[in-house]
Amino acid sequence: MKAVCWEGKGKVRVETVPDPKILNPRDAIIKVTSTAICGSDLHLYDGYIPTMQKGDILGHEFMGEVVEVGSHVKNIKVGERVVVPFAIACGRCYFCQKGLWSCCDNSNPNAWMAEAAYGHSAAALFGYSHMFGGYAGGQAEYARVPFADVGPMAVPDGLDDEQVLFLTDIFPTGYMAAENCNIHEGDIVAVWGCGPVGQFAIRSAFLLGAERVIAIDQIPSRLALAAKARAETINFAETDVFEAIQEKTGGRGADSCIDAVGLEAHGHTVGAAYDRARAFVGLTTDRITAVRQAIMACRKGGTVSLPGVYGGLPDKFPLGAAFSKGLTLRMGQTHVHRYLKPLLERIQKNEIDPTVIITHRLKLDDAAHGYSTFHDDQDGCLKVVLKP
Ligand SMILES: [Zn+2]
Ligand SMILES: [Zn+2]
Repeated sequence: MKAVCWEGKGKVRVETVPDPKILNPRDAIIKVTSTAICGSDLHLYDGYIPTMQKGDILGHEFMGEVVEVGSHVKNIKVGERVVVPFAIACGRCYFCQKGLWSCCDNSNPNAWMAEAAYGHSAAALFGYSHMFGGYAGGQAEYARVPFADVGPMAVPDGLDDEQVLFLTDIFPTGYMAAENCNIHEGDIVAVWGCGPVGQFAIRSAFLLGAERVIAIDQIPSRLALAAKARAETINFAETDVFEAIQEKTGGRGADSCIDAVGLEAHGHTVGAAYDRARAFVGLTTDRITAVRQAIMACRKGGTVSLPGVYGGLPDKFPLGAAFSKGLTLRMGQTHVHRYLKPLLERIQKNEIDPTVIITHRLKLDDAAHGYSTFHDDQDGCLKVVLKP
């Protein structure tokens, strides 16, 4: 089969690789019909995530038709169309039983690597380095889905792939980020980053009752899309973000702040230049401009929610500000399994149209072009969908 393989920093290539096989009675094989490039795939592309190996198959946002199931898989059938959560969860461990799917204790065969870095290992992820399990991803013609009796959800006819594809990651991720803000009627929510996750966080904040959402980015097309969803916008290349939020909130600060940027934050502040320099010489992996601003701009007693990916030991983290203002910090990989059904219902009820973020539709063969276009913010690129 054809698959998108990681070949080193800034290099991906479509290669011919062996077809996946059922290895375990709880596996399924999916014929991929649609897959997307995620912002967090760019962290792999940029070489920020350790333990990638040449030839690793990328991709954790994918859906398709079930073509084979192991003997223990009863919840999905051959021929059904399914969406697959990006985190792999066994469904039976202490964490899965508590609904903390992305904390699954059983899915990562390389848990020792993550334990060395983090104390404990979270769930394995599709196509996201050996530290996170070393599983082949779904930017391919076929994918093996472990614990398929737990993760994949069948999609009803009448919804096309593009309407449901983002249930695999970014819609639940933006939604959980907003849910983590514990939004009350009348709240003002500020969102850093108007990429795909930011766009879903903005829309989810409104769905959960926010009165106003302030969206922060520097790319005009992304700010325009945020404005279409009723967000007020701040272009950080032109405006001092803290001052602007102070002004918009009567000097109180935003009730909650969502950092949908993550470890590759851009910025024009002294802190941002410092982070870039340190990242360049390998002293730190995380550039934390966005989360720093979020903590500073959040009102006392508010919540800072981090859906953006962080991996390492960030420098100059304003813990003192967070403590002094009594902030709540919430973060982590999304418990996608928890959100599949409720968010599918919201799509069916037309409460949200996930397709508005798609800017590029390419053949799987053109994946390298998709990566570079998304990476370099060319051509108004916001979301690339690949069709095998
Ligand atoms: Zn993703
Ligand atoms: Zn588990």
